[in-house]
Amino acid sequence: MSELVISGLHASVRGKEILRGLDLVIRSGEVHVIMGPNGAGKSTLSHVLMGKPGYEITAGSVLLDGVDLLVLEPHERAHAGLFLAMQYPTEVPGVSIEEMLTEALVATGHPHGGLRARLEAEAERIEFDTRFLDRSLNVDFSGGEKKRNETLQLAVLQPKFAILDELDSGLDVDALRLCSRRVEAATHETGLGVLAITHYKRLLDELRPDFVHVLAKGAIQVTGGLELAEELERTGYSQWIERDTVETSVSIAGFGDDPFADPFA
Ligand code: ADP
Ligand code: MG
Repeated sequence: MSELVISGLHASVRGKEILRGLDLVIRSGEVHVIMGPNGAGKSTLSHVLMGKPGYEITAGSVLLDGVDLLVLEPHERAHAGLFLAMQYPTEVPGVSIEEMLTEALVATGHPHGGLRARLEAEAERIEFDTRFLDRSLNVDFSGGEKKRNETLQLAVLQPKFAILDELDSGLDVDALRLCSRRVEAATHETGLGVLAITHYKRLLDELRPDFVHVLAKGAIQVTGGLELAEELERTGYSQWIERDTVETSVSIAGFGDDPFADPFA
């Protein structure tokens, strides 16, 4: 049983504080989903967890089984058991997924024998054409192919925790179903713990979250189950949107249905 514990996390970008005291505990086998309005800091959270440069952590901690992730380089975090699926995966010309995964498995001290067979079996599970196994990583991949590619990496690397930022962006319905189903299966098969960031409830039908959280104003505002996501589909995030954000969206929206409506009602 592993634990990813985020405590009192504060993070800033270019002097602007985005995360303001975020607490979250994820255990092996659990699926947590973070939803929230645009600009709430969801991607900031995934970038901070990964160690992407440009974010200043001003307070708080992130511990994976007691190991402080925030002082580690991104590859060391991966070594510690964290997997991060990027909202916009990187293209790596000249390197195939098989070569990349061989490196990654060797670097983390995992057996890499029989990798080709494992990749082919995993590709079949998510209906990913094996042609892609020999092509340069992500180069000229469609959105769906990139996400299948990432799901394949996750299946082979068997991390303790995966952070999935908008797995649903650019995915057709079939790819979404297969990829999220594969991720969900990993929670049973290898005890993967998942933190998924999404705008769409449809992802949740396959991921079957144990917890749904609303991130707004830099912190978790409310936690529930699937019923919370269903409620959000109906009500939206207006009750958690900050005043300055509402003013911006109102001025951009210009004249909506009722220009005299009170946006804070
Ligand atoms: P979400 O993923 O919830 O939509 P983000 O984490 O991407 O939100 O962004 C949170 C806030 O941080 C936004 O106001 C955004 O404009 C700001 N932000 C994010 N990254 C940067 C950056 N590199 N430079 C300046 N502001 C940023
Ligand atoms: Mg985002």
